[in-house]
Amino acid sequence: MFSVWERQSFINYDYIIIGSGIVGLSTAISMKEKEPNANIAILERGLLPSGASTKNAGFACFGSLTELLQDIKTLGKERTYNLAQERYKGLLKLRARLGDEPIDYQNYGGYELIREEELPFLKEIDEVNSLLEPIFSSQPFLIDNKLIGQFGFNTSVVKSIIYSPFEGQIDTGKMMKALIGKAEQLGIIIHTGAEVEAYNETETGVEVTVKDKLYKEINFKADKVAICTNAFTKQLMPEAEIAPGRGIVLITKPISNLTIQGVFHMDQGFYYFRNFEDRIILGGARNLDIETETTTDQGINNKITENLTHTLKETILPDYQYEIDYFWSGIMAFGEHKEPLLTQVSDRVFAGFRLGGMGVAIGTQLGEKLANMMV
Ligand SMILES: Cc1cc2nc3c(=O)[nH]c(=O)nc-3n(C[C@H](O)[C@H](O)[C@H](O)COP(=O)(O)OP(=O)(O)OC[C@H]3O[C@@H](n4cnc5c(N)ncnc54)[C@H](O)[C@@H]3O)c2cc1C
Repeated sequence: MFSVWERQSFINYDYIIIGSGIVGLSTAISMKEKEPNANIAILERGLLPSGASTKNAGFACFGSLTELLQDIKTLGKERTYNLAQERYKGLLKLRARLGDEPIDYQNYGGYELIREEELPFLKEIDEVNSLLEPIFSSQPFLIDNKLIGQFGFNTSVVKSIIYSPFEGQIDTGKMMKALIGKAEQLGIIIHTGAEVEAYNETETGVEVTVKDKLYKEINFKADKVAICTNAFTKQLMPEAEIAPGRGIVLITKPISNLTIQGVFHMDQGFYYFRNFEDRIILGGARNLDIETETTTDQGINNKITENLTHTLKETILPDYQYEIDYFWSGIMAFGEHKEPLLTQVSDRVFAGFRLGGMGVAIGTQLGEKLANMMV
């Protein structure tokens, strides 16, 4: 049995948020900004945040030209415009909320490598620039082919480079630490090692059940609950329209005289790489084995690691001496298109998830919208 003190201070809340990724933390922070006296807890299944938010590559980006052209095909121009705008707004809000220094934001720009097969996309650059210009107050994409040699890419593979001054990079770990710090500073309680098994709506609120070694289970209580579990949402909402997608990433050891600086996209966003100090982080190639990679299991797929290793040597670092340090993986959530889902499940239960491969950008924005729906 819980004491009266435990019930008051640890079990009962105004709002419970499930999941301490960028969306869960941003939702809680936005709620506190709107309602400073609200009693808010975040329940996180891992001892550490254990989703995509601590596994990602730290691109602070809004989308490459070829990727946005694909989005126009599935979403149309207006929704693609809105998506790019939400990502950009989200980035500005994240930076304003946490500050550039604590998250190590670097404004080195974004680039897209254009291979022979993507050259036809360049014909549409003016149209996409005109579409997106109102978001940035200038054209977001510029062709700059002298960069191919400057960065040392393989000139028989890379035929053109598109530069965008509106993309940057962050230190993902520092960003998450800063978000957790901000949440705690605002009085938000984060319970880790608290995997939510189920929730149950009662007449007076929502009971949220977490397994526990000592009590067998703990039923937390809240007036309203937000589900921010991204790729793992089906566990709590079996009807959720999402498919998990594993992303595999490699990091090199430090490389002498590395001239590559910035975030880089390739093959309509299926490959991405960046410098992290004097190392390279490269991820992607999920499209080579979509079936195996549609999983929530952390793990490594040899077909993909071999392809990433080859792409790094062949296209990105043909003239450098380097060693791959290691690989890691993380789980994203995808749907039929790239818009995230924001849902009111009932009067008391809400959800924000399915952030795809650009959650760093849109996470803050989604969190704020979710908070606005709930508070
Ligand atoms: C390898 C990789 C590279 C990426 N690179 C980039 C990038 O460079 N730029 C970019 O913008 N985006 C990138 N992304 C995508 C981005 O990381 C995600 O879109 C974003 O982090 C999603 O945030 P989230 O809060 O919705 O989900 P998550 O970070 O996945 O958070 C969900 C949380 O819920 C918790 N949880 C799940 N189920 C339960 C439960 N039942 N009870 C309690 N807690 C639960 C999980 O442990 C997790 O901590 C990348 C993703 C991956 C995997």
